[in-house]
Amino acid sequence: MATAMTAPAAGAMVEGRSSSSRDDAAARLHKDNAIEHWAKIKSLMDKKQVVLFLDYDGTLSPIVDQPDKAFMKEGMRPVLAQAASVFTTAIVTGRSKDKVYNFVGLDDVFYAGSHGLEIQGPLDRPVKCQMAEDMRPMLEATTDTLHSLLGHIQGYEIEDNKFSLSVHYRQVPSPPHVEELHNIVHEYVATAPEIVVKAGKKVLELRPKVDWHKGSAVNWILDALDLGNRSDVFPIYLGDDITDEDAFVAMETRACGGMGILVKEKFDPERPPETNASFSLRNPDEVQTFLATLVSHAGTVTSAKAPPATAAGDTS
Ligand SMILES: [Mg+2]
Repeated sequence: MATAMTAPAAGAMVEGRSSSSRDDAAARLHKDNAIEHWAKIKSLMDKKQVVLFLDYDGTLSPIVDQPDKAFMKEGMRPVLAQAASVFTTAIVTGRSKDKVYNFVGLDDVFYAGSHGLEIQGPLDRPVKCQMAEDMRPMLEATTDTLHSLLGHIQGYEIEDNKFSLSVHYRQVPSPPHVEELHNIVHEYVATAPEIVVKAGKKVLELRPKVDWHKGSAVNWILDALDLGNRSDVFPIYLGDDITDEDAFVAMETRACGGMGILVKEKFDPERPPETNASFSLRNPDEVQTFLATLVSHAGTVTSAKAPPATAAGDTS
């Protein structure tokens, strides 16, 4: 099994910030738009080899009421396919690897599901990683318990992501039922030391308490491809959720550089304004425009995609 990375958990930074970090947090509120400041991004890449990491919900697809219908808008898939043909590309999501593959449908990208607890390389780079195989029975028991505790609340949904659970409340009638759902889930998690919970966009994400997150998954993929310590590699991570902050931190702490892009509408009551990202985009439509711009400049401001690696990094 791969060794857990040691990047600090951004959630802890956001939730438990000290008074001394308040000024830092204020400085993290505003981020330049990645399209409007393309020239700056171009100079940062400076003929390096770009590696693309993309969250799915809220980044490649719009947030919708029914999680099973979170399809990408027309036009996104061909742009994503073009990007994957010129850049090493990975989808990093809270969903199960198999479910997000069904949404994306591309064979030449990495899929990191369950917040990175399960990673599968593309056909020509068959690396894989499973961090929580022995957690399945515990997660199945948790699902049963939560259904019994939440059964009286209309509209909730528990999504089984294989190595994590998502309690969706997009269709739960607004207060007081949402508040009740939050209270029940948090009270349950307080009695379950093997589980942690994080809030997302109208979802509570429950994961096994292991030192592994989206930032760990990003570093694992780069290391599996022998790209982790190369100064000519420039990773870019795009995401909209609190859980993506761990990956933004991983970008910030890379010796060779890297860039986090937060996808966020101007006002988002579901998400604290502090971020470790370097730039921002407003929505998946802008993500599509950004990817198309990146593709159109491939070969002029970036170097070529690395050839397929050997099966290094197979930890199964
Ligand atoms: Mg998301």
